[in-house]
Amino acid sequence: MTANTAERRALMLREMGLTPPWHLRGAADEPVVAPAAIAQTASTPDARAANATPAGADDRRSVIMRMDWAQIKASVASCTTCALHARRNKTVFGVGDENADWLFVGEGPGADEDVQGEPFVGQAGKLLDSMLAAIQLKRGANVYIANVVKCRPPGNRNPEADEALACEPYLHRQIDLIKPKLIIALGKVAAVNLLAREASVASMRNKVHQYRGIPLIVTYHPAYLLRSLQEKARAWEDLCFAMDTMQGLNSG
Ligand code: URA
Ligand code: SF4
Repeated sequence: MTANTAERRALMLREMGLTPPWHLRGAADEPVVAPAAIAQTASTPDARAANATPAGADDRRSVIMRMDWAQIKASVASCTTCALHARRNKTVFGVGDENADWLFVGEGPGADEDVQGEPFVGQAGKLLDSMLAAIQLKRGANVYIANVVKCRPPGNRNPEADEALACEPYLHRQIDLIKPKLIIALGKVAAVNLLAREASVASMRNKVHQYRGIPLIVTYHPAYLLRSLQEKARAWEDLCFAMDTMQGLNSG
């Protein structure tokens, strides 16, 4: 291990809480700026068409694929396409730098996210912020965070396939607009939906996959890491791999 790698490892382990957190200052502690309130309703013709879906999923998808940021935010805010809309408090669109190089994709809002309307603000979100800090990133600065579904699955169950499918055009359009250099799929639900294949995180990690031509790396979901110390060390490896991959993309 080079000195640089050793330093990085020490920092990473510390930031992820694998050693006493005597240095948890800085990026992860800064207040998170709430996303601008989305006051608009689906008032544009495109937004209305996307939500009404009179002519079927293909039309809805093609309408969403032409949306700009304002339209897609308005469309999500008033979306009733799948059953998850019925019990949500707030939709959770996504947050961060709309020109980010890094895109982190989770599964769906939990209880805290459903109340606040922002992804990864609960316990798992704290760990995600620490993971970002460990690779010198922070929410909002060259980083965008989104989820497979924008409405909370009741009781934190996994989204059903039809719910993920209904929400997929939004994530697809977000990715088209952001044009990230690298996507990190957090956990199995994100990986399986983005890569459209059934496999375990263990079998998908440590490889560079592609999502419509964009490099994609799979790692464990932070909520899972909160329960498994052993996987935390693997997640550290995945973050190093992601950093190296990004360095390669930037120098290539
Ligand atoms: N888990 C997720 O997958 N996404 C969130 O936004 C919060 C918890
Ligand atoms: Fe619409 Fe997605 Fe919410 Fe379902 S989860 S209602 S598709 S925004």
